Amino acid sequence: MFGLVRGCYLARRIGSPGSLKGHGLQNHCVTNQSAVGRGILKLADAMLLNDRLVAEIAAAGGRVDDVFVCPHAPSEACACRKPNPGLIIKAAARHSLDLEKSILVGDALTDLQAGRNAGVGQNILVRTGRGATQLALPEASQMAPFPVFDCLSDVVNFLYPALL
Ligand SMILES: [Zn+2]
Repeated sequence: MFGLVRGCYLARRIGSPGSLKGHGLQNHCVTNQSAVGRGILKLADAMLLNDRLVAEIAAAGGRVDDVFVCPHAPSEACACRKPNPGLIIKAAARHSLDLEKSILVGDALTDLQAGRNAGVGQNILVRTGRGATQLALPEASQMAPFPVFDCLSDVVNFLYPALL
């Protein structure tokens, strides 16, 4: 499972479109979009933005199999807003994912916490997006150690040979 990270496209360094799928891997995006719950963005518009992101990744030769959105405001205390595991558990149920063997990549500590709360086997932080700022937070050093990569492409390049 790959959480998508702004500004770092999964597809860029992968040899051929669909190659990850060819090896039985799925890519899912799990995203908090509290702008919906706060009334800043309509859910339909958020979904359009997600569709556009998925289309851009596809145009670059990558693939996103599914997108899971938490549209709630933090004040709603839902079960799906990361660091809660709800969205990841939903993704696992819908796509029969073995979370212990899954990989979550995020740019926020709450992404990693959500992964751990859901039982995801590997939870990785990237420095792109909010990652570098998040890494400098005191909370980062208080968490159990986690791997850090510069960007999503580096994660894929590191992991992918082992998956062939
Ligand atoms: Zn939610």
